[in-house]
Amino acid sequence: MRLSQMLLITLRDDPADAEIPSHKLLLRAGYIRRIGSGVYAYLPLMWRVLQKVSQIVREEMNAIGAQECLLPQLQPADLWKESGRWDTYTKAEGIMFSLIDRREQQLGLGPTHEEVVTAIARDMIRSYRQLPQTLYQIQTKFRDEIRPRFGLMRGREFIMKDAYSFNADEDSLKKTYQDMYQAYSNILRRSGLAFRAVEADSGAIGGSGSQEFMVLADAGEDEVLYTEDGKYAANVEKAVSLPADAELSRFTSYEKRDTPGTETIEKVCQLLKCSSTQLVKNVLYQTVYDNGMTVLVLVSIRGDQEVNEVKLQNELTKLAANYDAKTIIALSVPNQETQQTWTAKSLPLGYIAPDIADEYIAGGKQIHAQFIRLVDQTAIDLKNFVTGANETGYHVVGANWGEQFKLPELKVDIRKARPGDRATHNPEQLLQSARGIEVGHIFQLGIKYSQAMGATYTNEQGEEKPLIMGCYGIGVSRLAQSAVEQSYDQDGIVWPVAIAPYHTIVTIPNINDAQQVATAEKLHVELNQAGIETLLDDRDERAGVKFKDADLIGIPYRIVTGRAIANGKVEVVERATRKSQEIAIDQVVITIKQWITAAVARD
Ligand code: ATP
Ligand code: MG
Repeated sequence: MRLSQMLLITLRDDPADAEIPSHKLLLRAGYIRRIGSGVYAYLPLMWRVLQKVSQIVREEMNAIGAQECLLPQLQPADLWKESGRWDTYTKAEGIMFSLIDRREQQLGLGPTHEEVVTAIARDMIRSYRQLPQTLYQIQTKFRDEIRPRFGLMRGREFIMKDAYSFNADEDSLKKTYQDMYQAYSNILRRSGLAFRAVEADSGAIGGSGSQEFMVLADAGEDEVLYTEDGKYAANVEKAVSLPADAELSRFTSYEKRDTPGTETIEKVCQLLKCSSTQLVKNVLYQTVYDNGMTVLVLVSIRGDQEVNEVKLQNELTKLAANYDAKTIIALSVPNQETQQTWTAKSLPLGYIAPDIADEYIAGGKQIHAQFIRLVDQTAIDLKNFVTGANETGYHVVGANWGEQFKLPELKVDIRKARPGDRATHNPEQLLQSARGIEVGHIFQLGIKYSQAMGATYTNEQGEEKPLIMGCYGIGVSRLAQSAVEQSYDQDGIVWPVAIAPYHTIVTIPNINDAQQVATAEKLHVELNQAGIETLLDDRDERAGVKFKDADLIGIPYRIVTGRAIANGKVEVVERATRKSQEIAIDQVVITIKQWITAAVARD
């Protein structure tokens, strides 16, 4: 490909609306262009990268027997109503784009394909003899993300490979899941990425487990907690750990204390000269179930700990049936304004005790009259603790469960694991923290969708059973940008060779020099013929400009037909190391071919 004929514009300066290096670089180097919020055009260079990533994905999926297909992006609402996800995905914070067609039928644009694929399995799979089956597709997904950002990292339209497996039993599902784990590891390794597979939150669906594949980078939106020994790694949303030991309480008898101006844990501990590990703090949340019912939640947890809202959300989802609901659609800490919508009298904020009266809730048709009271494991074990007195300016000390306070029935683990905590598998290992970009997620779904949608098969004993499912996603466009986030320098992108848009760029320093041009033209043809994907920079530009652009777009090898051609040689520069050497013109093809093979094997 000739640069003189290519639709390529590179920018000198960082675009104003890009925050992270990979986003800036992809814009500057002419890979992508923003069309709207979270919507990007993949320009020719980007499309080649995406095709390469897709090809690696395809090879690894085919290798484990997954079958490629293409499912519709326009999805009838009825299917989503069958699974019970239509409302959660289209209302409140739901991320599905929905529309109404000329026949007044509701449709959604596919954010994911469990419903569609389950409908297919329901129609086509009858017997255990047809199992297992795995389908996959590589396709554009649509999600109306609340905060689209960072270019392709969180788009509203992006490319995903999604796969779905149908198995007869748990063992078979585990085998498919394990194969996927291996395939995902291969995909990331082959794409030249440093990554870690971590335990992930499976939401309220339960299932027997899920793992995320995290590309390690400071710009990652996720926090990963792991141990040095390599035996534990989890998304902070899911992570467990041993809390620090609580100090023994210095209070021996129950008393109410005057503690003015101590709304925060820090202030009350200072005033009472106690450790925050001797305190029970009571945190207020408000949740909305999918039938519109708002329920107030009081979480009692040890003073030095924080609530993990993902774990809390899972616990509250489990309680949905108590409120005639299926799931929750919102969870937040109520601010003053929202408090006013349900409080009967003003709350003693900062001084709330575990037994704050339900009378504080004014009630109403859509507001449940009682608090959900949850107690975290860390608070259960405390003796003679400090907590609020339900009266502004007062705390109580020396309190005990079963004496002054009834222990809430709902005992849960909803504390947030933190860096520095001791690991559960070995208390000598401390949790470390790293940032990660989630590029893949594999998931043992179980029967959630097959049961809801009636996708069954007949087993060997002749019984009808719901299909056991797994789902496996990898963000193709997010993965491609992650590679840049992990590999760049002050001059531009440094693509891993396996996914670079081209392998080499032949740069003609002076297009008015006929010999330079002839040598470059010849190499351009020969390299391409040898399967080495090559760009020819034949633009009428200064050499410096061309070198800068080659660095910026990050082509792994630059071949310069400069002064050395007088001696039958060209200069070859490796982008990643900047190592430069002169190579005889007739050796260029074979040498670079070897380099590429070695680099792809190494990555
Ligand atoms: P996130 O927590 O980042 O929103 P998710 O849990 O919603 O991700 P999945 O539904 O598991 O993601 O989708 C599978 C993969 O698709 C993700 O691992 C990620 O690589 C990619 N992906 C998800 N949302 C986006 C998006 N908005 N833009 C680009 N890629 C995305
Ligand atoms: Mg998401």
